Amino acid sequence: MRTLIRGGTVVSAESASLIDVLIEDELVVALAAGGSELAESWQAGAGRVIDAAGRYVIPGGIDAHTHMEMPFGGTRSSDTFETGTRAAAWGGTTTIIDFAIQTKGESLIGGMDTWQAKAAGRCAVDYSFHAIISDVNESSLKEMDVLVEQGVTSFKLFMAYPGVFYATDKEIFQAMDRAAGNGALIMMHAENGIAIDAIVASALAKGETDPIFHGLTRPAELEGEAAHRAIALAQVAKAPLYIVHLSSEPALAAVAEARDRGQNTFAETCPQYLFLSEEDMGRPGFEGAKFVCTPPLRPRHHQAALWRGLRTDDLSVVATDHCPFCFTEQKELGIGDFTKIPNGLPGVENRMDLMYQGVVAGEIPLSRWVEVTSTNPAKMFGLYPQKGAIAPGSDADIVIYDPLAVQTISAATHHMAVDYSCYEGMPITGRVETVLSRGRQVIADGAYTGEAGHGRFVPRRLSQHLR
Ligand SMILES: [Zn+2]
Repeated sequence: MRTLIRGGTVVSAESASLIDVLIEDELVVALAAGGSELAESWQAGAGRVIDAAGRYVIPGGIDAHTHMEMPFGGTRSSDTFETGTRAAAWGGTTTIIDFAIQTKGESLIGGMDTWQAKAAGRCAVDYSFHAIISDVNESSLKEMDVLVEQGVTSFKLFMAYPGVFYATDKEIFQAMDRAAGNGALIMMHAENGIAIDAIVASALAKGETDPIFHGLTRPAELEGEAAHRAIALAQVAKAPLYIVHLSSEPALAAVAEARDRGQNTFAETCPQYLFLSEEDMGRPGFEGAKFVCTPPLRPRHHQAALWRGLRTDDLSVVATDHCPFCFTEQKELGIGDFTKIPNGLPGVENRMDLMYQGVVAGEIPLSRWVEVTSTNPAKMFGLYPQKGAIAPGSDADIVIYDPLAVQTISAATHHMAVDYSCYEGMPITGRVETVLSRGRQVIADGAYTGEAGHGRFVPRRLSQHLR
């Protein structure tokens, strides 16, 4: 089956130009200048011609940070792999990298097997996994090597959540040292969870239980401190480091300083830190719970610093940390005690649109939109150029984006299995029109045309983004 995408502007991480794209079965096989003799000759043999005139043609989005059906605080995130990857497709994301959790006392590979079983046969688009190490010990360190061989080449550790995921500096160093040997990438949740626990306890003792206190008890300085410490540990271990969901100026300054020294340090931010703020957590009544995530939303002035970080490449990737909990019954577990509010926000469906607003507003150039949402995550996590590019031999994961369409974000029209949107009522310029996942149309003419089980597990190589 040959598909021709005709008349569109192909936007890559480097450029934007009128290019026609020829697809055979699951792969891109050729590109040619739009209107050229070669491109015109492809029409005859194409089983399907997609008219992309006036549209952007971009490599499918890669969301390198999602948590589908993740257990948290006695409940679980409300999107399954089926609903979450379908929503991803609607939003122009054709690959997710989710986190398989090792629970304490369990093996690393056991956790991976559990997550592989949850996802198998259910996903609308391709997926891969990072592994969360909750229990650093001799056997889990050895298992890191095995997982790297199986295409799981990134491992997340936590400096927050004492008693749950928290790793000591010794454990972090041991995992980094192992990564330096096997080529894996260490991902870090950088917040000083020990100090935060003390601040939380004193807030609760004073009767400060509203959602806003989730944010006020996790100051940005303690994200900066943890980022700095993680960077120093990685420097000594000679291991590359990727800081997840970076939310604030102090942490960004630590990353920028390390990058200026030439250390292999990278960071992602998320749309919620660019578009939402601490004020949202302070909305009246219990509504602020809708905005409780970790690290917390910050005072508004951090947003400009994060946009600047995206422009200067101190921030390399935009992922969502998609971890939705319904307001009714799930977020409500924390009425009267903010520490019981499940931490996380929905977002997998909104990322491409929201980041395109950065282009509309002049915060980032058009090519940078593609770079931070698709090409960089592909390189960072060893998927390039199978993913993150429109080039001969690449998977035909392609989004056709209408830059002039207008829409309004709403829980009434989104496809995530969650009863609210953090961006309710927000006007958006631009819209995903058509989505191909390995050559198959999964979104077309305003409808979902994919199927659960089309998405496959994608084994990854080592990071291709190191300096
Ligand atoms: Zn996360």
